[in-house]
Amino acid sequence: MNKKCSKCKVEKSSTDFSKNKGSKSGLFAHCKVCVQSYNRVLDRHFRRGYVTIDYRVKHDLRYQDRALTFTWDQFQIFKPAYKLLHEAWVRSAYARALCPSIDRIDNLRGYELDNIQIITQSENARKDRQGTDCHTSKLVAFQVETIRWLSKHYDFTQYEIARMFGVGQACVGDIINRKTWKHI
Ligand SMILES: [Zn+2]
Repeated sequence: MNKKCSKCKVEKSSTDFSKNKGSKSGLFAHCKVCVQSYNRVLDRHFRRGYVTIDYRVKHDLRYQDRALTFTWDQFQIFKPAYKLLHEAWVRSAYARALCPSIDRIDNLRGYELDNIQIITQSENARKDRQGTDCHTSKLVAFQVETIRWLSKHYDFTQYEIARMFGVGQACVGDIINRKTWKHI
């Protein structure tokens, strides 16, 4: 019995499809060749996610205080979550908003295993945008992190930090005391 692959639209023998107990036909909708080529793309994108972070923490100054504390092997636990979002991303014809993104739950912490989640690009962007309705709108998330980091590790006054970032002292005080930018 032949079956048409819903991906490549080619009619193939049932042995060209993997078994899927959950489906009516008992077979997957996509043929083995299509599943394999999808898996290769998935693997490549997943790998690229890790490698990009590894590169940034080593070479990008903005990431210099963020350690990457897990290995490529440990990162595999995120593969199922990544795959779910990745499938939706591919189905959307690679809509940028749905691109899977590796997010640090707490932006003050580094890339640590218990501080990682996989979310879409648009969710990640929304996380960064939150707080823009307050008077600190000219600051971006990275600067907010830097302000808190400076006040924690150095004995700059709030006034000095405010001067560095071109904002008011009250604004810096609110950031440090988490009255604003609470989500970071
Ligand atoms: Zn196919």
